[in-house]
Amino acid sequence: MKSTESTSSASTLTKTRPEEFDLLILGGGTGSTIAAWTFAGEGKRVAVVDRKYIGGSCPNIACLPSKNIIHSAKVVDYFRRSEEFGIAHDGFTIEMSGVGSADNIAAAALTIGQQRTARGILGGYMLKLDARHGAKSLNPASESYFLDHAHDNEPLRATCWALVHLCWLQLQRYSITLYHLDRAALVRCAALIAQPDTAGSAVERMAARLFGVMPEIKALECVKGRFFDRANEKLNQLTRFATNELVPADLRAMAATLSGSDAAALSGRNQNQPEQSVSR
Ligand SMILES: Cc1cc2nc3c(=O)[nH]c(=O)nc-3n(C[C@H](O)[C@H](O)[C@H](O)COP(=O)(O)OP(=O)(O)OC[C@H]3O[C@@H](n4cnc5c(N)ncnc54)[C@H](O)[C@@H]3O)c2cc1C
Repeated sequence: MKSTESTSSASTLTKTRPEEFDLLILGGGTGSTIAAWTFAGEGKRVAVVDRKYIGGSCPNIACLPSKNIIHSAKVVDYFRRSEEFGIAHDGFTIEMSGVGSADNIAAAALTIGQQRTARGILGGYMLKLDARHGAKSLNPASESYFLDHAHDNEPLRATCWALVHLCWLQLQRYSITLYHLDRAALVRCAALIAQPDTAGSAVERMAARLFGVMPEIKALECVKGRFFDRANEKLNQLTRFATNELVPADLRAMAATLSGSDAAALSGRNQNQPEQSVSR
């Protein structure tokens, strides 16, 4: 497959050479990103082309904008009923240009947990977004659970999965707090944020790379509360049942791609390892 490098002027256009790719993926959404990372992890040279939305529907027109619109609607509803709370007002107008804008997002928080099961490591996250001015009603913006058939002792598997999704949602530039249910994950996460060069495994190197694009990130222990209870309950439910929410993905290939591991070694490993599953 061949494509032409983009250039800014006609004079440089004549100097461009065709570039070789093994695979061209049309559409740059969540599904395409998983596919691109998986094939790239297997050593393929992959190009992703989107006609309009970098990152796909989720960050541009679906998950995030819809939560922002819901938040704006709540604010309007409170304002309309402000007299019930002793606040008088003389009419108001709604500027639709400000409704659903990503500018309303102030911070992101992830509740992350994982459990060992006979089927492998079950992990997941819940994402909460805070709006500007201290309002905390953009939550939960997203939720995801996966089953990784690996049985190795890798505390940061669920953390990486959560960080990848944060990047898909294009939230990496915001202030981010990771709340860990798992003590070992918290300890490794805090160590890697402070000293990225201590990363050992492919998954740890993947985490270190992802932390590297997040200028404001901190890790804390998840204490009992609404998000702790819900994440625990969902993990316990998925430990017992294989639900129809599960779809296949390959976290190991992604880790190798993002951590810069040797692709040939990875394809050798993949032949002996079963596929993994995720749910959204
Ligand atoms: C209102 C709404 C709210 C949602 N809220 C949530 C939520 O809170 N949490 C959650 O987990 N999920 C949520 N979802 C679901 C989530 O958005 C989707 O599951 C996810 O975006 C699907 O990813 P995808 O890669 O399959 O498709 P998409 O993300 O839609 O990606 C497809 C891409 O292909 C591109 N494309 C299409 N045709 C072509 C072409 N011919 N050439 C080039 N590019 C092309 C499109 O521009 C698009 O960018 C929500 C969806 C909606 C509609």
